[in-house]
Amino acid sequence: MSKLIVCNMKMNLSKEEIDSYLEKLENVNLSNVVFCPTSIYIPYFLKANLNVGIQNISRYKNGSHTGQISLDQADSLNIKYYLVGHSETNNDLKEINEKIKLSEDHNIIPIICIGEKERISLENIEKFIEEQLDIILKDIKLSKAIIAYEPVWMIGSNNKVDTFTLHQIMKKLKKVVKKYDISDIMTLYGGSVNETNIKEILSIEEVDGVLVGNASLDVCQLLKMKEVA
Ligand code: PEP
Repeated sequence: MSKLIVCNMKMNLSKEEIDSYLEKLENVNLSNVVFCPTSIYIPYFLKANLNVGIQNISRYKNGSHTGQISLDQADSLNIKYYLVGHSETNNDLKEINEKIKLSEDHNIIPIICIGEKERISLENIEKFIEEQLDIILKDIKLSKAIIAYEPVWMIGSNNKVDTFTLHQIMKKLKKVVKKYDISDIMTLYGGSVNETNIKEILSIEEVDGVLVGNASLDVCQLLKMKEVA
């Protein structure tokens, strides 16, 4: 079965660059790729029949919250995924829990980002992950969720991914997620994934896919990554 590639395009690319990006993706089977473009570009990705995620949602259902987008609004556009808890969005754990709770009544799938801020020992990472999940998944009941393990210090760093340690962490993560009330949970890795290291990362059985930032902005790299996913 194919592994998943989630592209976090962040606040990048102009409308012209988006047109050229989408043009290069025409007629490519991208059923295992999810694109999370800057929100104003989402309609173009939907029009191209691609799987779309939104980079963040409001903790509120609706109302006077200038600049925010609600889960109901995303759902009404047929957006299938949303990122939550990404380190660049500065959510606290309670807020992340509130946002995930909102999706209990929807089919939109949360891609929940977790990970330690700085280099710590393997033992401490495992403890940290469990503590984070205990707060953000508290009293949550969902049919499907995706957990993306993203060590914050690896994001955008181009540091070498230590696949031996990653394997230990992902094994632990797979075990830990079983205790929550979520029927189907995928586990991804994110942090400086690119065309060079993706194959080795995806060869880890417990890695169901990757969350890719910078490397997803380059269509050629994306297509190469897709070949091995
Ligand atoms: C990210 O921002 O989620 C990410 C993984 O970025 P990068 O691939 O650039 O490290």
